[in-house]
Amino acid sequence: MKMSKLFVQTLREFPSDAEVVSHKMLARAGYIRKLTSGVYNYLPLMWRVLKKIENIVREEMDKAGAQELLMPFVQPKELWIESGRWEAYGKELMRLKDRHNREMCLGPTHEEIITSIARDVLKSYKQLPTNLYQIQSKFRDEVRPRFGLLRGREFIMKDAYSFGTSQEELDKEYQNMWEAYTKIFKRCGLETKAVQSDSGAIGGNVSHEFMVITTTDAGENDVFYCDDCDYAANSNHAISNLLPAITDGKEYFKETKVVDTPNTHTIEELSKFLNIPSTLILKALVYIIDKKPVIALIRADKTVEETKLLNTIGGLEIRIATSGEIEEIMKENGFDAIPGFIGPKGMKNIEIIADNTVKDMKNFVVGINQNDVHLVGANIEDLGIEKLQYTDLRLVEAGELCPQCGKPLKVTRGIEVGNIFQLGTKYSKPMNAVYLDADGKAKPYIMGCYGIGISRTAAAAVEAHHDEWGIKWPLAIAPYHVIIVPVSTKDETQMKVATKIYEDLLANGVEAVLDDRDERPGVKFKDADLIGFPYRITVGKTITEGNVEFVTRQTGEKVAIKPEEATSKVIEAVKAIK
Ligand code: ATP
Ligand code: MG
Repeated sequence: MKMSKLFVQTLREFPSDAEVVSHKMLARAGYIRKLTSGVYNYLPLMWRVLKKIENIVREEMDKAGAQELLMPFVQPKELWIESGRWEAYGKELMRLKDRHNREMCLGPTHEEIITSIARDVLKSYKQLPTNLYQIQSKFRDEVRPRFGLLRGREFIMKDAYSFGTSQEELDKEYQNMWEAYTKIFKRCGLETKAVQSDSGAIGGNVSHEFMVITTTDAGENDVFYCDDCDYAANSNHAISNLLPAITDGKEYFKETKVVDTPNTHTIEELSKFLNIPSTLILKALVYIIDKKPVIALIRADKTVEETKLLNTIGGLEIRIATSGEIEEIMKENGFDAIPGFIGPKGMKNIEIIADNTVKDMKNFVVGINQNDVHLVGANIEDLGIEKLQYTDLRLVEAGELCPQCGKPLKVTRGIEVGNIFQLGTKYSKPMNAVYLDADGKAKPYIMGCYGIGISRTAAAAVEAHHDEWGIKWPLAIAPYHVIIVPVSTKDETQMKVATKIYEDLLANGVEAVLDDRDERPGVKFKDADLIGFPYRITVGKTITEGNVEFVTRQTGEKVAIKPEEATSKVIEAVKAIK
């Protein structure tokens, strides 16, 4: 490819709506163009990267025994009714009607469709286990599309689904996919950590996410991990052992009574006013889950993890109640307390869920829905809660102890590039997707599903590999392997050598670009760094001494070598990734 012909326009500035490095650089280097919120054009450079990632995924999935197919992007409502997800999926599901008023949706994922295919074809245990996958665009009307390709509304995904006859078969396929994923991300030049996770809207029991670890904002997940053992979990799923805390307030409160606590609206203000540690305060938080209020109780030095609470209720959407809503709820219960003085006592017709930390609390302090007072020396029985459910709602903090080995946990951020789920019979049962077992009985498939964000993986690679000048693509997923830059296109010798290198490389299967533009060398080098060619061969004045400059983008290393050496270095490197 000649640079003068390459379909690319590099920009001087980063786009103003880009918050993270991958979005900034992919836009500025001419890889993507936004069409509308969360929807991007993948321009030729981007498409080359995406196809390379797809091919790596394809090769490893095929090697792992999975078979590729392609399902339609538009799906009929009926199958979603069968699975129960037409109601359950929420606003992320983009729904539409055709000219006959038939309801459809744009595929956010394909469990329903693949299960309907399986039940038509996989009728005998002899055909199982089977794993089917596709690589395709998905659409999700994300609440907050952001970060460019990292969280788009339309994005490319590889989704695979396995069908088996037993948990053992599922365990085996899960492990098989785990190994395939490890190879895929390694080949893409990405280091990933497999972490335990919540199963979310897709459902199921066991699941792991493959995270690219980063310290930047682009990592939307907090990952808790242990250096001493293999424990690693997404914050929405992580658990820990707590260090001992003061939970018995006997020495602070000899009796149970109501005390004045004027203007103590926050936990800090209350603990300061009463001169007590916050571990002695029972915090009550009001959430709205799918339009219904729920009170969560937790020891006040700890934080509620919203996904855990949402899953306890089995809800879809969660948010903290506004002060207006709290006022309303108070009124319904015959109180007029404002946030800071709220508690479970006397609250009717509202679900109350307590975190496990509450179990150990004695003689604590709690709001009783009266302004400017708290009940001190209280115990849970004093609150007269009708139906109290204890569960784990707590957000883990770094330094708490590993649930496996007891050493302090650490925290980092991660970008989820793929995940694997054990679905069990979540779809096969409601959709009556069964096979005949050896004993002639109809049984539902035991299923698994396995996703990889192709476009997100490309963006994650930029997050992991860049510097202030631009992208440093890993060779295996770079749009082109090398750029050859003659410093002066008017210099005949330089052009001759550059063209020879270019042609030799092409003849050896290397994807090369010749920068034939009549531009200043500074401009060409800047573009080369921004676009992120893994290698640059510069043909300049030193060619009179028989040397070219060979630059490795990842390391920044520059060496003066003979043109033939430069050529064979690139050919060797490219061979190594094939
Ligand atoms: P997230 O928690 O980040 O929303 P998810 O749990 O919804 O991800 P899945 O439904 O399992 O993800 O989708 C499989 C893969 O598709 C994810 O691991 C991720 O790499 C990718 N993916 C999911 N949502 C998006 C999106 N909005 N934009 C780009 N890639 C996405
Ligand atoms: Mg999601």
